[in-house]
Amino acid sequence: MSQPSLPWEGGCRCGQVRLKISAPPLVTMACHCAGCQKMCASAFSLSAAIPSDGFEITQGEPVIGGLHGATRHYFCPRCMSWMFTRPEGMDFFVNLRPTMLDDASWFTPFIETFTSEGLPWAATGAPHSYEAFPPFEAFDGLIQGYAEQVATPAT
Ligand SMILES: [Zn+2]
Ligand SMILES: [Zn+2]
Repeated sequence: MSQPSLPWEGGCRCGQVRLKISAPPLVTMACHCAGCQKMCASAFSLSAAIPSDGFEITQGEPVIGGLHGATRHYFCPRCMSWMFTRPEGMDFFVNLRPTMLDDASWFTPFIETFTSEGLPWAATGAPHSYEAFPPFEAFDGLIQGYAEQVATPAT
């Protein structure tokens, strides 16, 4: 499914925190790691890597949750929805949980990570699969591959 036109709006479960996306994702992901399983209360997390200058909180004040470490996991202070992550050392993008968007129907994961920790039945259909995290050198190619897929959506 092709992406709707920008900007996109979204918010947490209770609506106290709202956000606006004005730049398309660099790449989309699903993560099977044990930490994401706990924080999502599910088999894997979903992410859309949004360029930082295209990401804006329009209402409310998200708070830090999760590990409280160098990678910052942001939650709604009231309903505790895990909304987005600012990964350590990578300030140029924000990992939005795409199910916060008012319309997430277009979302499909392009990369899946930490399949080594995944539940045996959990499959995402992502075309690029990694047992852990992709090597840093792979990202340029993955971002380019995702842009090409969005330009020519699979039918
Ligand atoms: Zn909330
Ligand atoms: Zn993870």
